[in-house]
Amino acid sequence: MMELELVKGIGNKYLGILNKMKITTVEDLLTYYPFRYQVYRLGCLAGNNVQITVKAIVEGEVKVSYIKRNLNRLEFRGLVDRKLIKVVIFNRAFLRNKITIGREIILVGRYDEKKNTLVASNIMFEKMNEGKVEPVYHVINGISSSTLSNFIDKVMDYAEEVEDTIPYNIKNQYEFMDKGKAIEIIHHPLSGESLKQARVRLVYEEFFQFMFKINYLRYKYLANNKGISRTVDYDKVREFIDGLGFKLTVDQEEAVKDIYDDLISDKRMNRLILGDVGSGKTIVSIIAVYINYLSGMQSAMMAPTEILAMQHYENIVKLFAPLNIKVGLLVGSMKKKEKDLVIAGLKDGTIDVIVGTHALISEGVEFNNLGLVITDEQHRFGVNQRSNLQNKGHLCDVLYMSATPIPRTYALTIYGDMDTSFIKTKPMGRKEIITIVKKERDIKEVLFKCLECIKAGQQIYVVAPLIESGDDADLNDVNILKDKFDMAFNGKVKIGILHGKMKPKEKDEVMEKYKNGEIKILISTTVIEVGVDVKNSTMMIIFNAERFGLATLHQLRGRVGRNDIQSYCYLICNQDIERLKVMESSNDGFYISEKDFEMRGQGDLFGIRQSGDMAFKIGDLRRDYKILLQAKKDAVKFIEENVDSGFANFKTYRDIAREMAFID
Ligand code: ADP
Ligand code: MG
Repeated sequence: MMELELVKGIGNKYLGILNKMKITTVEDLLTYYPFRYQVYRLGCLAGNNVQITVKAIVEGEVKVSYIKRNLNRLEFRGLVDRKLIKVVIFNRAFLRNKITIGREIILVGRYDEKKNTLVASNIMFEKMNEGKVEPVYHVINGISSSTLSNFIDKVMDYAEEVEDTIPYNIKNQYEFMDKGKAIEIIHHPLSGESLKQARVRLVYEEFFQFMFKINYLRYKYLANNKGISRTVDYDKVREFIDGLGFKLTVDQEEAVKDIYDDLISDKRMNRLILGDVGSGKTIVSIIAVYINYLSGMQSAMMAPTEILAMQHYENIVKLFAPLNIKVGLLVGSMKKKEKDLVIAGLKDGTIDVIVGTHALISEGVEFNNLGLVITDEQHRFGVNQRSNLQNKGHLCDVLYMSATPIPRTYALTIYGDMDTSFIKTKPMGRKEIITIVKKERDIKEVLFKCLECIKAGQQIYVVAPLIESGDDADLNDVNILKDKFDMAFNGKVKIGILHGKMKPKEKDEVMEKYKNGEIKILISTTVIEVGVDVKNSTMMIIFNAERFGLATLHQLRGRVGRNDIQSYCYLICNQDIERLKVMESSNDGFYISEKDFEMRGQGDLFGIRQSGDMAFKIGDLRRDYKILLQAKKDAVKFIEENVDSGFANFKTYRDIAREMAFID
């Protein structure tokens, strides 16, 4: 297939943006599916502040004003339905030369009768047919959905070259349409019926592959689950637990027991700890490390981010130092010299426990006798990554942790290859977090609460949906919020910012300052979602909460309420209040994820969509659950029928199976 950069119109600028969206090939582009369709029907200026699409003639000069970094405003007079109105659009300064007097354009936006102003969200220059259906894509700053759509159209001829991975016999059995055709239809549906068929086919393909992986893992595991058998004195484990300074919950105790049994049996452990945020999974995994240590073996704990790795590291050091257990840290940002030292310690066995990011699986890392690998759910299907780590310790035991409170039925389907321990109850003595949904215009009350909180010596997280809000004037971003908060507190309160674009070292510094209390308010994107634990934080304020799925909000909220002081979570929003009210009424992650499922499908059940291996491109776990179950059935059968031949006739699956061969 052709190279992405050769597509006409994709210059360096767009190439960079597309790469950020994980689109690096023409195939990626073609399989970047719309998340909804917009049907435009030309209307008139009726209705106050409801979305309308109207035809307008440009009547006056375009005026552009630059309000601040990342925010500009374009304004002109237009004639709509023989009425002269003001048209405003944000962050489209680049359109100024295209909007020429006399030109006919299509405006999509909201009209305010009183101000006689239409605030447009989109301007289109093409002639429009009545009832035009336009695909709408998730995009990031710097590219519009329609530009993306144009790029896709330019490469549509290659759609039939995109590999169809549904095994041919299954494709025939269901009479699925060709992949190329499905891709064309999904981007430009001609009828509801064909769209449905195209979608089902693409969803099935995606789920089938997923289910193949899971069930192949299971198959391999069952075929060879002989592991390490250990002799570990449970009294010693008990002693360690009793010395923790708190009592484990019943569920934690059970999870520990499950793990202990797994580890001493000669069966290889392949277990997932599923538990809500703050339910105390980490301590359970640390106990697992201790059990493994008692058996004389090394443990590795892999975290998805450096911040999290550091935090686990510090926790573990604190717990293990008195026991003389040697703990090491390995993350990408360390100096080569430091790394080499750690790597040597792993090889000669002087380091008992290593905590790190995927730096752990880089080449050159060897273990003396790795017995246990603990990893985060996000890495589950980073097959290569995981295999690398496992290969370093043959047949070692594996423990996964998942902070995703996924409803049990779904969990059993998508984690079908593993044993699971559920941790449902929260540790005792925790006060329920009080959650309050607030309109942005009532922000003052929240700021007063902040002040109280700071005066009491506590700390605050503030979350914005974006680093830079760019296109959308309604969105808060990290920088805007920093300005707003500095203004509100006259610069007298120390505020830090944290986001994914910062260098690891900068992030660590900010995090350190927040941990030691120097920074009082930490404004960040969702990078703090995963696992950050600063007990002194008692307030979480999430701006543009409507932009997040309930599951994510719940994860974020879980950053507070970690001690016995009353904690608060404020959800600041301008719309979607009903949905957010669920958060006020419940602190139960499982309940919330059920609700999230009900209200918006899987939404961002898996946290930030793009990051998880389970982020499906088109499939939706809830909406397409039946397809998922069918795909599972078919995948199991497919494996049984073809595993002996090594999937000889099915290249895709032969390759996947080879990649996964580490399980042996
Ligand atoms: P998770 O990893 O499930 O989000 P953590 O393991 O980070 O949760 O636990 C959250 C906090 O609660 C940690 O500070 C931990 O030390 C503490 N904790 C864990 N289990 C208990 C318990 N049984 N009683 C009191 N505190 C606990
Ligand atoms: Mg074992």
